[in-house]
Amino acid sequence: MRILITGGAGFIGSHLCDYLFKKGHEVICMDNLITGSISNIAHLRGDNFKFYKHDVTEFIYLEGGLSFVLHFASPASPIDYIKYPIQTLKVGALGTHKTLGLAKDKGAAYLLASTSEIYGDPLISPQREDYWGNVNPIGPRGVYDEAKRFAEAMVMAYHSYHKVDTRIARIFNTYGPRMRRDDGRAIPTFIHQALTGEDLTVYGDGTQTRSFCYIDDMVEGIYSLINSSINEPVNLGNPEEMSILDLASLIIELTGSKSKIVHRPLPKDDPRIRQPDISRARSLLNWEPKIDLQEGLKMTIGWFRR
Ligand code: UDP
Repeated sequence: MRILITGGAGFIGSHLCDYLFKKGHEVICMDNLITGSISNIAHLRGDNFKFYKHDVTEFIYLEGGLSFVLHFASPASPIDYIKYPIQTLKVGALGTHKTLGLAKDKGAAYLLASTSEIYGDPLISPQREDYWGNVNPIGPRGVYDEAKRFAEAMVMAYHSYHKVDTRIARIFNTYGPRMRRDDGRAIPTFIHQALTGEDLTVYGDGTQTRSFCYIDDMVEGIYSLINSSINEPVNLGNPEEMSILDLASLIIELTGSKSKIVHRPLPKDDPRIRQPDISRARSLLNWEPKIDLQEGLKMTIGWFRR
């Protein structure tokens, strides 16, 4: 296949580039590098890999055919989308429109990287795909949550009206090598703090929960979805749920750090709970995560040490 990946120099995007390249596909990576980094893809060379620095909210011109468009471009961590609120809204809205238009023009299939954030601060747990969510449109996370909700609506409209063959992956918290230590998310922040002897900053009392999926499992899940014919949204994530306080303690233990845990104010609209119901992925994709949190954290800590 000849595949375009927007956001291909980002965390998940670059791992997808690696995976698809290794499978022998021709990979075209596009990124404006505001949160992505060339160092994530610098090792990919050859006729089957091309990189274009481009902002996908602007018209996209590509020569030749395309089999698939994977739309992964977006700031994706709370501090990034608070730093780039307009870009976040634009890439979810205009960027989704441009990339869908390209897919339609080329007769390519399309996959949107959506997010568990579309469930907001959920009132039910675990979250199934038929839950509509609890989102504050004007809160600090609104720029990301609402852009992705709009993006899902746009994808479904191109599917039903233009008959584009689309997929929607609702991606839950994912971690692993290549996360930026300054992206503000819990795992890279805690690992960096533990390795440098700083206190681990747990927001609030730390009883809020998340469910963390290792990047290799996530990429396998996305690839299964690409190869399926499921047009409805599919949750992808690891259902193993834990509190942020327990996560911080586990990272101190696994790094052998002498760091302590300190508490900081809980950011506004921080979801209290988050856990994917992955029955749909299990039954329709025959996919589920294989790497448990301890194992994944050890690999991630090893990468951060290096
Ligand atoms: N968190 C924390 N300390 C940090 C960074 C994050 O306690 O230094 C908390 C954050 O408030 C949230 C959880 O960890 O409750 C996960 O945050 P992250 O930014 O990783 O992802 P998201 O909130 O988007 O799931």
